[in-house]
Amino acid sequence: MIISGKDLAASLKAAMAEQVAAFPEQYGRVPHLVVILVGEDPGSQTYVRNKEKACEVVGLKHTTYRLPADTSEAAVLDLIASLNADDGVDGILVQLPLPAQISEPKVIEAIAHEKDVDGFHPLNTAALWQKRPNASCTVPCTPEGIIKLLEAGGVEIAGKHAVVLGRSQIVGLPVAKLLLDRNATVTICHSRTRDLASVTRQADILVVAIGRAKFVTGDMVKDGAAVIDVGMDRDENGKLCGDVDFASVEPKASVITPVPGGVGPMTICCLMENAIGCFLRKMQNR
Ligand code: NAP
Repeated sequence: MIISGKDLAASLKAAMAEQVAAFPEQYGRVPHLVVILVGEDPGSQTYVRNKEKACEVVGLKHTTYRLPADTSEAAVLDLIASLNADDGVDGILVQLPLPAQISEPKVIEAIAHEKDVDGFHPLNTAALWQKRPNASCTVPCTPEGIIKLLEAGGVEIAGKHAVVLGRSQIVGLPVAKLLLDRNATVTICHSRTRDLASVTRQADILVVAIGRAKFVTGDMVKDGAAVIDVGMDRDENGKLCGDVDFASVEPKASVITPVPGGVGPMTICCLMENAIGCFLRKMQNR
């Protein structure tokens, strides 16, 4: 079964749009998401445009600051400080990667953790790893989207062996923690893992986030595995593809996500959820 992230995201966004439509009456306004984009990276421009489109579908107010590539770190930090102080701003996202003169960790830490819609701030990361009950924290969007895809595909997580390929802060590590929280037995693999295929072949659930086009092939996958492809790569013809070789893996998988139309739309959908979450926590704590 191919799980369509596009369809799932569309239905979740429609439900969010209904929820948001009631906010002006309930809270006097709708959530406001601010995106900061520095430079002209074409991939980042596409991501930001898609985020703007999703805000429109869901009914969120959105503002994008498009800054030139030579913007100084101080200027970005000043802008973040003013957005932190602005009560009319609920969520702040700085599109990564940033030009070399700007420190990503500094920028991530500068965002008020209550407005950190990406869930990358160290306080949000700490809350995720401490598994705080009722934590007012934001979970990173891509990992959250992966869990929703597994749930939509009817994949049981508890007691299963989940193998995560990749240990990045934005995908591999947090998705491993979310799977662990749902009682999977989790193995995390990376570029130094020995005999990778012997590990991936043990996976009931295989999440691949390594950034290598069509790296995971059918012989690396157990029959009946659930396979989530996070990769956003280009094949030899420049066509968008994932980290999984769909043609050889799909016949073996019980469920699989396509690229495009799998994890990508769910990431943006979960960003909308996070923006609404930041807004609601603020309104309900007044
Ligand atoms: P990243 O920060 O570059 O991390 C890649 C990870 O993969 C690292 O942990 C690396 O290991 C591991 N790795 C690289 N080559 C490997 C190999 N040959 N065997 C085993 N492990 C290997 O990447 P990321 O930001 O997590 O992104 C991964 C992919 O997901 C990219 O294609 C990215 O574009 C995509 N992505 C998609 C979305 C979406 O919404 N669809 C969101 C985020 C990312 P080491 O730690 O040992 O270096």
